[in-house]
Amino acid sequence: MYDLGDIVEMKKPHACKANRWEIIRMGADIKIKCTNCGHIVMMTRREFDKKMKKILEKKEKE
Ligand SMILES: [Zn+2]
Repeated sequence: MYDLGDIVEMKKPHACKANRWEIIRMGADIKIKCTNCGHIVMMTRREFDKKMKKILEKKEKE
């Protein structure tokens, strides 16, 4: 299961050709930030579940 701060890969890469996104907000909506260009995308959790391909990195636990 994904969580805040995780780095994920989406089914479709960003327009900047990178495919590495950080989850920066978790709620009814999810916000992800392209780690290459900083572009932020917001989508519903349902949409995110459909578009996310895999988790690349789990955020380190404190
Ligand atoms: Zn980008």
